[in-house]
Amino acid sequence: MPYGELAALKEECGVVAAYGVGDDLPGLLYMGLFALQHRGEESAGIAVSDGEQIELVKGLGLVSEVFTTSCLHDLNSIEPKLGIGHVRYGTTGGGGLDNAQPLIVRYLQGNMALAHNGNLANTDRLRREMEENGQIFQTTSDTEVILNLVARYRREGIVTAVRKALRHVQGAYSLVLQSNDTLVAVRDPYAFRPLALGRLGDGYVIASESCAFDAMGAELIRDVKPGEMIIIDEEGLRSERLCEQDVPRHACIFEYIYFARVDSVIDGLNVHAVRRSLGRILAQEQPADADIVIGVPDSGIPAAVGYALESGMPYEEGLVKNRYVGRTFISPGQLLRNLKVRLKLNPNRHVLEGKRVVVVEDSIVRGTTSRNLIRSLREAGATEVHMRISSPPYISPCYYGIDTPSTSELVAAQHSIESIRSMIGADSLAFLSMEGLLQAVPGGGNCLSCLTAKYPQQTCQERN
Ligand code: AMP
Repeated sequence: MPYGELAALKEECGVVAAYGVGDDLPGLLYMGLFALQHRGEESAGIAVSDGEQIELVKGLGLVSEVFTTSCLHDLNSIEPKLGIGHVRYGTTGGGGLDNAQPLIVRYLQGNMALAHNGNLANTDRLRREMEENGQIFQTTSDTEVILNLVARYRREGIVTAVRKALRHVQGAYSLVLQSNDTLVAVRDPYAFRPLALGRLGDGYVIASESCAFDAMGAELIRDVKPGEMIIIDEEGLRSERLCEQDVPRHACIFEYIYFARVDSVIDGLNVHAVRRSLGRILAQEQPADADIVIGVPDSGIPAAVGYALESGMPYEEGLVKNRYVGRTFISPGQLLRNLKVRLKLNPNRHVLEGKRVVVVEDSIVRGTTSRNLIRSLREAGATEVHMRISSPPYISPCYYGIDTPSTSELVAAQHSIESIRSMIGADSLAFLSMEGLLQAVPGGGNCLSCLTAKYPQQTCQERN
């Protein structure tokens, strides 16, 4: 479905960073953030440093709304050497400008800016302890908890401070942090959220997804490893491990299923190739007797193409997405709400009329999208609608950076497949099996919590 369709279901965040990439570092960060816009549409920000001071611009809205040519020009005027950027779709903490990132602290020993993708599992306790000790918080975001922990150890140098701070932290974090002259990037030991390292000229770039490197004209070197801390300063790049002991890798499987952009390579796998395999395997496992295959834009399309290739049925563009829908605001009357669905995703009557249709979607969460979609496909003339989902049933909330509804609202946690089929009004409904999913994402080491309700938990402190 189109990004941002669900009001209460929120995407994650995106981070980007650059060091020593030559002229116009803010412009390059802007390009990187633009490519990561799908990871968050609520706010955007860039912090840059010339080695002595940090300048920050952030605001609510899309990257193109927050940054004007003149503010990028202002950021450039300090001739920055390093910088970080962030797009946010609020998870813990809610929205508002205060929670927009990067977060920045200025104090006697220097400045620091931090941008974070993920969700911490023990923030409430950490925050309560800090508040009891007199610590003041300016935001409700768990990122400020990390920033305060780092500040606590800051006298020991930024690298030690980050390592010590993260020993307290449990959960998912892919973060980029800068002092005046040093860039640090860290991926948590489980590697829940993606983070990649790239090269641009004589400098380095870091981003949530490699599609940002393409936009910046940079080259992907590799993914940041689980529990790796990358430090980039005048001496060059070095890498350290956060903890002595390894934990099993738990990279989010949903990045492949839904979140990430199809042109990204995450942990060595191209997202488009994975989605296409999901569709192929789905066709083998769950065939349907129909005339055409259509996909739900955006994330359902490659899976639908894979399904069509495998089944031998033609792939057709049965749903047309308006590409300008991103932040359309429409008042909440019922008539306009119904029309809004059409505005975003219009069934193509020319393709659908008189056809038995297989519609491939990446996931069912609450079931509302599928119900509306199937109704509109029938109204546009489809004679049968066979729904195929390119992932196993979504049965449990994510605590690692994806804001999902509670179990009581997850339709697959509450109902059998047959009753979901009847609720959404499909002629048939089938999901990909777990074996099929793991076949399409080979290598293992993925977090499957939303599909299995089994959660990994352990802090660095406990391990060391
Ligand atoms: P629902 O209508 O609640 O069943 O939502 C299913 C749709 O939401 C599918 O089209 C998915 O592409 C999409 N989706 C899945 N996870 C998320 C998420 N975390 N945020 C926004 N949309 C999502």
